[in-house]
Amino acid sequence: MERAPVADPRELHECRQCCTFCDRVLHPAGCIDSGCQYLYLFDDEDTGGRFMGCMNKVFRAEIDVDALEGAERTRHGFGGVKMTGMPLPQCRTSVERAYDGDGEPFDCVNPAFFEKPEPLGFDSTFDLRDL
Ligand code: SF4
Ligand code: SF4
Repeated sequence: MERAPVADPRELHECRQCCTFCDRVLHPAGCIDSGCQYLYLFDDEDTGGRFMGCMNKVFRAEIDVDALEGAERTRHGFGGVKMTGMPLPQCRTSVERAYDGDGEPFDCVNPAFFEKPEPLGFDSTFDLRDL
């Protein structure tokens, strides 16, 4: 039997079902705050800058740590970057809406998109504390 194609996680994190156009994003400040084991840092000898990324590829961008820390000191913060993989429980995520509007074209028909997707193989209904 032919297997169904695996969904591209990048498309999984986009919803275009109404005119709002939503994208799931990952907040890299949360990676530092959580002390995540999948966070990596490296120094770029060419620029002298320090960059960070995710070994799990929940986001693929490599982010300038100075820019992140500078933005985090402002009122708006650094914000989010495009999510490209399945987030883990420690990942800080949100949904960004591209357009705001009134009326039916902007009515959400996919409210489940606002729930954090669960990583493959992670079943929140199975909890050792229940045993
Ligand atoms: S797994 Fe999540 S919290 Fe950890 S580095 Fe990647 S995006 Fe950040
Ligand atoms: S508001 Fe709802 S239906 Fe519209 S794009 Fe966002 S998640 Fe999709």
